[in-house]
Amino acid sequence: MDTSIKTIDIIVPCYNEEDVLKLFYEESSKVTDNISDYSCRYIFVDDGSRDKTLSILMELSKEHENVKYISFSRNFGKEAAMYAGLDHSTGDYVVIMDADLQHPPTMIPDMIKGIQEGYDCCAARRTTRKGEAPVRSLFSRMFYRVNKKMTNIDLVQGAVDFRIMTRQMVDSVLELSERQRFSKGIFSWVGFKTKWLPYENVERPLGSTKWSFWGLFKYAIDGITSFSITPLRIVTGMGFLISIFAFIYSIVTLIKTIIFGIDVPGYTTTLCAILFLGGIIELSIGVLGEYIANIYMEVKNRPLYILKDTNLPLGGRKHE
Ligand code: UDP
Ligand code: MG
Repeated sequence: MDTSIKTIDIIVPCYNEEDVLKLFYEESSKVTDNISDYSCRYIFVDDGSRDKTLSILMELSKEHENVKYISFSRNFGKEAAMYAGLDHSTGDYVVIMDADLQHPPTMIPDMIKGIQEGYDCCAARRTTRKGEAPVRSLFSRMFYRVNKKMTNIDLVQGAVDFRIMTRQMVDSVLELSERQRFSKGIFSWVGFKTKWLPYENVERPLGSTKWSFWGLFKYAIDGITSFSITPLRIVTGMGFLISIFAFIYSIVTLIKTIIFGIDVPGYTTTLCAILFLGGIIELSIGVLGEYIANIYMEVKNRPLYILKDTNLPLGGRKHE
C-alpha cells in the first residue's frame, strides 16, 4: 500500500444544480489539483434532480477521471444524499460540500492543515449571514438557543455542512443509520476533535436555495426530537403543574361553595379553563405524535435512499 499519497473523497450533494455545476467543478478543481500529497476524487450525488444535473455529471465524468457520481431514483433530501456519499466513499479523508459554491473550495487546504495538526475533523462556520432574509436569521438563532437548552449536544452557531473528516469519523457517522437524519447533530454526537474555521457567508452565484421556510421549520423540529426527549419531559412537567393548580383551585372552590353557597356566574372562568386546557392537550398530543412518527418511520426500516445509476465500480457500495 502506498502510504505517501492519501486519498480524499469530496462529496457534493446536488439537487437541480444544472446552472452552477460546471462552474463548481472548475473552481474547486483549481484548488484540489494543486494539493500535493493528496489525491482528490469527487463523488457527486444527484438527489433526483429534475433538470440536466445528471447529464452534466455524466459529461464531467467522461472528461475527468476523478469525477464519480451517484444518482437517486427520486429526491430523497440532502441528508440522504450526504449519507449515500459517505456510504460510497473509500478515501482516507472525506470532504462534504455544497454544489452552489457557498462553501469556498479555497478552504479545503486549510481544512487539510487542520487534519495534519491532529484533528479528526475540520469544519466551516459562518460568521455572518449576509444575503439572508432577517426573519430567517432570527429563527435560526432562536433554533440554536432552544436546541442547546433541550439537547445535550452542542451545536456550533453558524456551523454548515462543509467539513473534512477522517475515515474513522466517517465510519462512526455511518453507524448512525437512522432514517430521520440531522447531520449537524450526528457530527457532534459522534464526538472526535473538531477544529472550526470561520468564514464569511457567500451568496449563491447561480440557481436558488432549495429550502422553504416550512422545510426549515420541520428540520428544526427534527433536530430537537432526534436528539432529545426534553419536549416529552416538558409535557409531563406541564401536566404535573396543572394538576397541582387544579387540585388547589378545586379545594378553594369547594370550601367557598360550602361556606357561601353556590356562586352561579362562572362563564368566563369555565370558558378560559376549557380553552387553556384544550390548547395544552392538543400541544401535548402533538409532541407525543412527533416521537411516535419517529418510531414509525424507524420501525419501517426503509432504505435511506434508492440508487438508480452510478459510475462507481460494483454499484460502489462499500457496505454489503
Ligand atoms: N440539496 C440536495 N437535496 C435537496 C436539497 C438540496 O442534495 O433536496 C443540495 C443542493 O444541491 C446544495 C446543497 O444541498 O448542493 C445545499 O442546498 P441549498 O444551497 O439549497 O441550501 P442553502 O445553502 O440555502 O442552505
Ligand atoms: Mg446553498
